[in-house]
Amino acid sequence: MKKILAIGEILVEIIALEKGDGFRAPINLVGPFPSGAPAIFIDQVAKLGHQCALISAVGDDDFGRLNVNRLRADGVDVSGIAIDPRGTTGSAFVRYREDGSRSFVFNIANSACGRLFSTKETAALIRNAEHLHITGTSLYSQSVIGMTLAAMRAIKARGGTVSFDPNLRPEMSRSLEVDEAFAEILQHSDLLLASGAELYLFANSGQPEDAVQELLEKGIGAIVWKRGDRGASYFDSDGRLDMPAFNVVEVDPTGAGDCFGAAFVVSWLRNATPRDALKLGCAAGAFAVTKIGPMEGAVQFAELDAIIRQNR
Ligand code: ATP
Ligand code: MG
Repeated sequence: MKKILAIGEILVEIIALEKGDGFRAPINLVGPFPSGAPAIFIDQVAKLGHQCALISAVGDDDFGRLNVNRLRADGVDVSGIAIDPRGTTGSAFVRYREDGSRSFVFNIANSACGRLFSTKETAALIRNAEHLHITGTSLYSQSVIGMTLAAMRAIKARGGTVSFDPNLRPEMSRSLEVDEAFAEILQHSDLLLASGAELYLFANSGQPEDAVQELLEKGIGAIVWKRGDRGASYFDSDGRLDMPAFNVVEVDPTGAGDCFGAAFVVSWLRNATPRDALKLGCAAGAFAVTKIGPMEGAVQFAELDAIIRQNR
């Protein structure tokens, strides 16, 4: 079994119960829920019974305890999650607009997980990892970018693999440093998991087949294109494969991409066929949207099999 590592933010998510634009007046909220893209991803990996670890930091507070307890209970190696007594656990407030788009208020770069330090625990996790999953949301501070790039170089130099989900949020800040990190990550990526228009981020063409061709020519072995309730597609040098979405009632789409990614990456590392990996990814994404809270829809293989059977 190839050990999977992720590095980046741990957050609590607090969700507005009423749809609308932003947070400029008092509204009803629900939360805290454990969150953070790499945390959701790694929790779903652990739920599938795969060995995995997360490098991050939380404050010595209840938001941190909520997260670390959940990850540990679900089977994630939490030895690389520091408890920073001077920091506060990160947070994200999310509110859905009527058209399904979201506004966020993030506290990430200035939270505990904004400052990651190398320790003997993080060094051991990087040394033992065989696969690194990177999400673009995690390029929010110099120390996290530095640790991610160093881990990526080390894991690739040993023959390990890298998956990359750009996970772009309009609220996230972009800088020359972030763009340079994106470019280097892309060069090292074996698998790109892009959502919607993210497929065109690193290509000149605005046509899916042409953009994919450009990405394959850059040396990325396989590309997955997530498209919400329209399902997902897989591309490699052999061509394209489409998988429709499973039919479920969507209550909260946040986290679907990370749960999809986890199920896809675990299947891919276990040498599943692209069709089977897509199917499990779509089942995990579908399950995730049926639950309020981004990590609440992480499931075991038996539950994915049940969704697949029901939809046959
Ligand atoms: P995130 O908001 O977590 O970043 P994303 O944009 O990366 O999500 P999506 O395309 O929204 O990813 O969702 C990933 C996958 O989950 C989709 O390809 C699809 O298979 C499944 N999925 C998402 N929404 C639905 C839905 N409403 N019904 C069924 N399946 C869904
Ligand atoms: Mg995404």
